[in-house]
Amino acid sequence: MTLTRTTCPYCGVGCGVLAAADGTIKGDPAHPANLGRLCSKGAALGDTLDLEGRLLAPRVDGKPADWDTAINRVADAFRAAIRDHGPDSVALYVSGQSLTEDYYVANKLMKGFIGAANIDTNSRLCMASSVAGHKRAFGTDTVPGTYEDLEEADLIVLVGSNLAWCHPVLYQRIVAAKQARPEMRVVNIDPRRTATSDLADLHLGVAPDGDVALFNGLLAHLAATDAIDLGFVQDHVNGCLDAVTEARRTDLSVTGLDTQQLEEFYSLWAGTEKVVTVYSQGVNQSSIGTDKVNAILNCHLATGRIGKPGMGPFSVTGQPNAMGGREVGGLANMLANHLDIENEDHRAAVQAFWQSPTICTRPGLKAVDLFDACADGRIKALWVISTNPAVSMPNADHVARAIENVPFVAVSDIMAGTDTGDLADVMLPATGWGEKDGTVTNSERRISRQRAFLPAPGQARPDWRIICDVASAMGWGEAFNYADPSEIFAEYVALSKAAKGFGKDLDLSAWAAIDYATMAPRQWPQDDTRFFGDGAFFHPDGRARMIATPAATAAVPTGLMLNNGRNRDQWHTMTRTGKSARLSAHLAEPYLEINPADAEACGLRPADLARVRGASGGDAILRVWISATAPKGAPFAPMHWTGQLTSAGRVNVATRADVDPVSGQPSFKHAPVRVERY
Ligand code: SF4
Repeated sequence: MTLTRTTCPYCGVGCGVLAAADGTIKGDPAHPANLGRLCSKGAALGDTLDLEGRLLAPRVDGKPADWDTAINRVADAFRAAIRDHGPDSVALYVSGQSLTEDYYVANKLMKGFIGAANIDTNSRLCMASSVAGHKRAFGTDTVPGTYEDLEEADLIVLVGSNLAWCHPVLYQRIVAAKQARPEMRVVNIDPRRTATSDLADLHLGVAPDGDVALFNGLLAHLAATDAIDLGFVQDHVNGCLDAVTEARRTDLSVTGLDTQQLEEFYSLWAGTEKVVTVYSQGVNQSSIGTDKVNAILNCHLATGRIGKPGMGPFSVTGQPNAMGGREVGGLANMLANHLDIENEDHRAAVQAFWQSPTICTRPGLKAVDLFDACADGRIKALWVISTNPAVSMPNADHVARAIENVPFVAVSDIMAGTDTGDLADVMLPATGWGEKDGTVTNSERRISRQRAFLPAPGQARPDWRIICDVASAMGWGEAFNYADPSEIFAEYVALSKAAKGFGKDLDLSAWAAIDYATMAPRQWPQDDTRFFGDGAFFHPDGRARMIATPAATAAVPTGLMLNNGRNRDQWHTMTRTGKSARLSAHLAEPYLEINPADAEACGLRPADLARVRGASGGDAILRVWISATAPKGAPFAPMHWTGQLTSAGRVNVATRADVDPVSGQPSFKHAPVRVERY
């Protein structure tokens, strides 16, 4: 039996997998991210390889069609919309599941050939606030550290992250490190007590959106106890005084924590040099997400605890290729290679490299705005690739109606029946994990290969090829004439070389010599690079920025505020993990985890059904799980169930689309709801 070396398609840990067509799945001991480990989802990948429910041929207007008919229909609809309404009337919505090569050609098509930037991604829902925070602080979207830093740290602070369920192998690495060095301390900051809290020496049940105040308080404490590294700040950081002044004004009651808890955390952080602060969706998915990120980064910059072994802030991405998408310009406000749409020189360089007829001149619509533009008629043609926004976007009923309102909708997917696919004029069958080739980048900037070990089923094609086929049908075949994904990756590497003069971080120069077929997982720019340890940042003056982050903007909850997130054994909308009986055995139906006092106030008993109604009027019907560890006032519901699985389980009909004003990332974690017995 031949085992193929590939990468898990789920979370941003990016574990190496050895896989075979007979369903054999093993952790890859040679992959630096997991060293042979797999979590329950990764280990069950072999259960998900069957073709039940797959989309195996193109469909046009609900009927089977050949590829030429389907491709021409998409190209014609996009051409007509651009001709009649301009390039801003069309949009692509892609995915952190997309491989880097898919992302690259989709961005090239939209930004360089159509000439607008209306291409956004479900990564907007995942880590856009981290991107914005990084750019404000560092001048570029750089994750400074590596996974080894977590093992070398003396204090790990996990903020808004249920790492045990959402990034299990990284959690396992921390568990092992703590066993080897019991003096290592772990603090878990989360309104909920979760499986991750079991590892923590200290769990701080911070109030929802109380994180800015918490880290402002830490910065004020660092200043008050002379723990700021004045030499590092003087040499490398701007804005420290303003940030500290703002921090000193912070009302710490916003944190919901008592003085003793705050003192314990602040003393521990200030007194431990090797600190890594890991943060995830509890930080990012907030209407103040970017300020939360910068409040964390401020503390690391003020102490110089960044870019050195065992030290630094660490944004852990949710999706397998959220990072790769960022690298090739997968967000509506970025160009490839971390270049900036707003910068004329950057735009000119990318256009010259692509030899494209045009280049977008301003940022496009971010996800929430993009679907609002679908709702109000500005978008005339929409192409959704590898994602299911009718389920996964906040205010999901509104988004489903918005998609329905677009005159032409194409959906590329591996599955025939999805909530979004049901709204499409054209369905394009894509190859899935195990059937396609490309690269992904994990949370520590490690680029790994996904490799095919199964034949493409039916007429399915890889996403990069479908995108290139449409580009070709629109008249741009020469620029999208790739034989295979290795040629796309080579072009991306060459673009990195062309962009090098702009002083950005994403330098792949050394990668030109690497053989794509045999490429081993490695970090960019090279293995074990820790950015910023030398105090060199990417703002034009080479200095970092601390940002004054006002905490007063944190909303004070008045009623029940719904939190949502992932279960341990499911992934996104369960397209793949829903096929595995052993994964579904963990938590088999959509549920509402609610504090006993809240349950009593709502008239709920154990195992009742609850109606959860959001501000926009959408209802989710969920099984009641009364739990003493659920924080009062903040029930939790998982985000996985779709209209195809149970029409009542779509929890995002009850979440709201409040967005962070800097990043455009919506606030999933903090939605006002009414809960009653169903
Ligand atoms: Fe896959 Fe993430 Fe589990 Fe690793 S930790 S096996 S990448 S789901």
